[in-house]
Amino acid sequence: MFLKRIELQGFKSFADKSIITFDSDVIGIVGPNGCGKSNINDAIRWVLGEQSVKSLRGTSMSDVIFNGSTERKPVNMAEVTLVFDNSRHIMNVDFEEVEVTRRLHRQSGEGEYFINKTPCRLKDIVNLVMDTGLGRDSLSIISQGNISAFADAKPEERRALFEEAAGVAKYKKRKNESLGKLNRTQENLSRLEDIIMELERQVNPLKRQAKKANIYIEKKSELEKIEVSVLVDEIEKLHTQMEELKKKSFDLDTQKAMHETTISVEDNQNSELRNEMYQLDREITKLQETFTKLSEDARMLETRKIEMDEKRKYALEFASNAEKAKELKAMMEEAHYEYEDRSRRLQDLETDMALRKEEMTKCDNDISYCLQENQQANAILNRLQNRKDVLENLARQPFNHQQAVKAVLDANLNGILGVVSQLFKPQMNYETAISNSLAGAMYHIVTKDEASARHAISFLKKNQSGRATFLPLTVMKPRYMNKEHRMLAENCEGFLGIASEFVENEERFNTLRDALFGNVIVVDQLVNANEIAKVLRYGYKIVTLEGDIVNKGGSMTGGRTRNQATPLTIQKELNQVLQSLDGQSMKVDGLKNQLTALQSKKERLRTDFVQMQISSAQLDPIVKAKWAKYDRLKADYEQIAPQEDLADSALMEDDIVVKLSAVHSKIDDITSQMKSKRERRLKAGNEVERKDGQIRQLRRELNVLQNEMREVEVAQAKAETRLETSMERLSSTYEMTFEYAQSMKLDTDMEEARRRVVVLRQEIAALGNVNLDAPKEYEEVSERFTFLSKQREDLLAAKDKILTAIDEMDEIMIKQFKEMFDKINAQLNDVFRALFGGGKARLFMVDPQDVLNTGIDIDVQPPGKTVQNIRLFSGGEKSLIAICVLFSILKARTMPLCIFDEVEAALDQANVERFAKYIGQFRGESQFIVVTHRPGTMAQCDALYGVTMQQNGVSQLLKVKLQDAIHMIDKEEVSA
Ligand code: ATP
Ligand code: MG
Repeated sequence: MFLKRIELQGFKSFADKSIITFDSDVIGIVGPNGCGKSNINDAIRWVLGEQSVKSLRGTSMSDVIFNGSTERKPVNMAEVTLVFDNSRHIMNVDFEEVEVTRRLHRQSGEGEYFINKTPCRLKDIVNLVMDTGLGRDSLSIISQGNISAFADAKPEERRALFEEAAGVAKYKKRKNESLGKLNRTQENLSRLEDIIMELERQVNPLKRQAKKANIYIEKKSELEKIEVSVLVDEIEKLHTQMEELKKKSFDLDTQKAMHETTISVEDNQNSELRNEMYQLDREITKLQETFTKLSEDARMLETRKIEMDEKRKYALEFASNAEKAKELKAMMEEAHYEYEDRSRRLQDLETDMALRKEEMTKCDNDISYCLQENQQANAILNRLQNRKDVLENLARQPFNHQQAVKAVLDANLNGILGVVSQLFKPQMNYETAISNSLAGAMYHIVTKDEASARHAISFLKKNQSGRATFLPLTVMKPRYMNKEHRMLAENCEGFLGIASEFVENEERFNTLRDALFGNVIVVDQLVNANEIAKVLRYGYKIVTLEGDIVNKGGSMTGGRTRNQATPLTIQKELNQVLQSLDGQSMKVDGLKNQLTALQSKKERLRTDFVQMQISSAQLDPIVKAKWAKYDRLKADYEQIAPQEDLADSALMEDDIVVKLSAVHSKIDDITSQMKSKRERRLKAGNEVERKDGQIRQLRRELNVLQNEMREVEVAQAKAETRLETSMERLSSTYEMTFEYAQSMKLDTDMEEARRRVVVLRQEIAALGNVNLDAPKEYEEVSERFTFLSKQREDLLAAKDKILTAIDEMDEIMIKQFKEMFDKINAQLNDVFRALFGGGKARLFMVDPQDVLNTGIDIDVQPPGKTVQNIRLFSGGEKSLIAICVLFSILKARTMPLCIFDEVEAALDQANVERFAKYIGQFRGESQFIVVTHRPGTMAQCDALYGVTMQQNGVSQLLKVKLQDAIHMIDKEEVSA
């Protein structure tokens, strides 16, 4: 036997602990109505997992707990234990004996479950019982009045009975679980598919946008690279062009200046020459007048001389010897006078010429001295000019040597307010002091705030343009000189003031001014600086007008470099240079004039000298002729009066010859002067004409030069504008310094690059609006899309697997179900004939095609009857049919336990006996617990238990003998 023992306590009418021990296979339970027999049946089903309150004949689960009676109080807990013999391993566990317990507490409504005293879940008990034939759908436990249910059930409801018999419940359960899983998988799948569809909707536009953005980025970066190179190339070309233009402009300037100087010099010279010419004209006219008058005198004298000569001629031919001698002597004296006069004049001329020559040499010396002076003065002028150019250049670009400062200023970054040296202007004479007191700080860059400074520093880093110091205005703290110290300093010799008093600046930089200069003292000279430093205990920086410094703490800085121009001292030096330049150019001009004067003097001397040479050459033969004449007259005279002494002859002043000689001498002199002046006049005239021509030519050239200069200026302005535009683009669009950009320049064909820039610009514009986040978004979305698609594949695979498993289970179920169905069907006819004493019966599937779902119907034909519908049979018949099916099942497969609660109640005496005997056939294989009132059944039982209610409302159990049992019934019948 399978069920070895039942223990009940507090269950329904079993208030006290009651134990039923079974020691044989067919057991009968007997007792009067209402004594609690069916409660035992309920108890067994309850332990095996019955959850239906209705089938336990209650309205709530707590109805199974003993509820009290007139004499007994209710209890708080119901507990039932079944003990099974599992030596045949009917239950799929390793234990030889299985003890199953169920408990219910009234207060909490809490249920407890145990297998072999170990707590477990209800589910574990259901699983344990599954497929043992004790399942809730099997026919093995039949409740009171339920026997006809089989016949009355719909075919579909009946099917469960056969499933239970075929042992497919576990597959069915698993299949259900699989279907649940399938459902959930399907749900997940559809949710996933919704998301995937949504992603698909996004992914394509995003893909397009991302592609567009990538094209944009690619083109943009290509453009940037090329454009930077193009800009650099352009800037380089413009630099070269500007250089050339500058050089050309300089050349033109020089030429122009030279032309202008030449013109003004020539003009000057011309006007001087014209003056001279005028002077000469006047002089010549005057000489001419004298000449005319002298010529008149000479003509008159000559007329008289001719008359005298005629008289003498006559006397010499016709007069006496004495007379002749007198005449000859006079003539001889005259000839001698003439000779002497001419010789003297020649001598005077030669003396004059020597003088002139001397003067000319002196003049030459003067000229070369003047030239030398001029050269020196010019050299100084040039040096000053150069220095002026350098200083002007420095003033224009004061930060050319401060690479970082220049880069920051050129880049036009936001928040850059200027450089210290630009923002503070030293007062006159304090330039050196202020400049030296600042030292390097004069190149510090002033910014609006710290953020601007940070930005500028990152700009310098990016472009590798060097380092600079920044002074954010917002964090500058002013410094002051303590009042007491100031008073002490003011009483010291040489104290001039605080450096901040000697600079000029915009008001908004006052704080910065005080931060830089507020505690720097200015004094006149170093010795006083030391004195004040001592008085102030070396607490301040002190600077002298010369720029020497006594630092805080007492260290001293000083000395001098050659070109120590700083942005702060440039202007001062420039002013000095400009002044010197003025003086020097005046000196040069003076020297030039001096030179011109010397040169014209020398020219005059030379002309005079030449004229004298001519005169001398003319005079020389005359002297000789006069001597010859005298010599001849002397010879003539000596023939006549040889002894006469000639020595003391003297000519009177009014002697014609004397007069004539004097007049001739004058005329010669004037002629010579006139000639020389005329020559000079002529030369000057030619010179003026030549110079006028030259000036005209120069003016024409100057005009051409000016036109060229204007062109160059226009070209310069154009190039400058283009340069500014390109530099601006480089710094604002790319934040690059030119030097950094230059290092990035590509080595390509620039014409081609320029064309490419235009093409790229067009292509980028044609792209229109671009979403730069698209590539990232696309990547994210497509990553998600791929991930979810993979998940979908996994789910689909899982779904396939589940479906295959379900198919496999279906196959097994179909096979097992069919086999069991056929086996049962094969038994049915015989069992039917045995119990009905003939006829036939057959089970059939309503839809044999769908074994898994088909309903089961039964075709019965008791002997001599042709009833078609099973529902039309009598109650007894319906019970018997159900019993037939149950016995067929028992024959087809062993069931360990059957519990019948008055199943044979409706049968007649003969049928009861046949039923009871048939049970006997299964002895040894199945165990039967039969609640009955029928002696026929009782007679076939191996043991009988009587249930009584001695106390009111509390069931009690006792083993009884058949006779006692029958007696009990009799008593019932008697009492009834
Ligand atoms: P019959 O021969 O008529 O079928 P029976 O022996 O099968 O009678 P049961 O149906 O087992 O009788 O017992 C019913 C009795 O159990 C009722 O009289 C009822 O008083 C008692 N009963 C049911 N539930 C409880 C409960 N929770 N507490 C106390 N008694 C209960
Ligand atoms: Mg009953």
